Amino acid sequence: MAKYEVIIIGGGPAGLTAGLYTSRAGLKSLLVERGLFGGQIVNATLVENYPGFPEGISGLELGSLMQQQAVRYGLEVVTAEVTSVAPGQPYSVSTTESSFEAEAIIIAAGSEYRKLGVLGEERLSGHGVSYCATCDGFLFRDREVAVVGGGDTAITDALELSRHARKVYVIHRRDELRAGQVLQQRAFAQPKLEFIWSTVVEEVTGEEVVKELRLRNVKTGQHSILEVAGVFVAVGLMPNSRSFFNIVDLDDAGYIITDETMATSAPGIFAAGDIRRDSARQVASAVGDGATAAMSVFKYVQEVGNGARITSP
Ligand code: NAP
Repeated sequence: MAKYEVIIIGGGPAGLTAGLYTSRAGLKSLLVERGLFGGQIVNATLVENYPGFPEGISGLELGSLMQQQAVRYGLEVVTAEVTSVAPGQPYSVSTTESSFEAEAIIIAAGSEYRKLGVLGEERLSGHGVSYCATCDGFLFRDREVAVVGGGDTAITDALELSRHARKVYVIHRRDELRAGQVLQQRAFAQPKLEFIWSTVVEEVTGEEVVKELRLRNVKTGQHSILEVAGVFVAVGLMPNSRSFFNIVDLDDAGYIITDETMATSAPGIFAAGDIRRDSARQVASAVGDGATAAMSVFKYVQEVGNGARITSP
């Protein structure tokens, strides 16, 4: 079984930064990523709030640059999904490709879109049901679409969609938005947006593509039907922590609990980025978490680890 001083799980900004730091510190490091490098930002057309890029940068390009930089300093990467981490020292990390051993682990597996869990949602996903307005918004030029949710993402998505669509319904389960004031002001000033309050989606219908949403007003119990060509689900995120519940403490929402050094409840296991409780969920904060976790790993391997530095896989 190949052995590493540190295995990093997840190739978003937190994981790639951790990998850059541990590799540059001379630790034998492996990063396991199941999809594209960059994490959630791969869906962002333009990242405008990451310092160093005054004109903004596409999420895909930023992820690729971060990966190139880490690999340049010796980070090894493998495309696979981590299925479990077995307790013990060293830790054993099983993936869909093979298994590895590591003295320390950084979990930076991020989060994924929360689903509505209603009839038709999964079947019509990619056929009118979308979780990414910046990716799919242009498909709905001059059509009528709906956004579900009342947070920052839902309102950002609705405003983005108003650039393409003829009309954007915002369906929210309460009668006030959770989104920040600035976004709310912009949303209420955009004439293409129409708010449907205190309402939930009960079913997405359509044979091959989305045709209608079956709605229920949670106050009156009244049912209604809304004809739309697309529905953008923006009801928050869920941490990708399913494979780690047996090894580190999670909070009630499934986020990994860490201290300010990114240490979890398990010795030698650290967490960074969106998967961590109290994360600010920004690229810049994920990068900071990754650097902190890497420095904690370095200290752990030097002082607390087995002491015997691994020199070959
Ligand atoms: P969020 O803040 O958790 O909002 C999720 C929204 O979906 C809430 O309005 C919630 O309703 C609703 N919701 C949750 N589950 C639902 C369900 N099953 N059915 C119907 N509605 C449901 O998530 P987010 O908007 O994705 O934001 C995540 C984080 O990223 C936040 O910290 C946010 O500030 C940040 N963010 C910031 C920006 C920005 O531009 N500054 C942009 C995007 C995201 P309730 O309100 O009733 O709970």
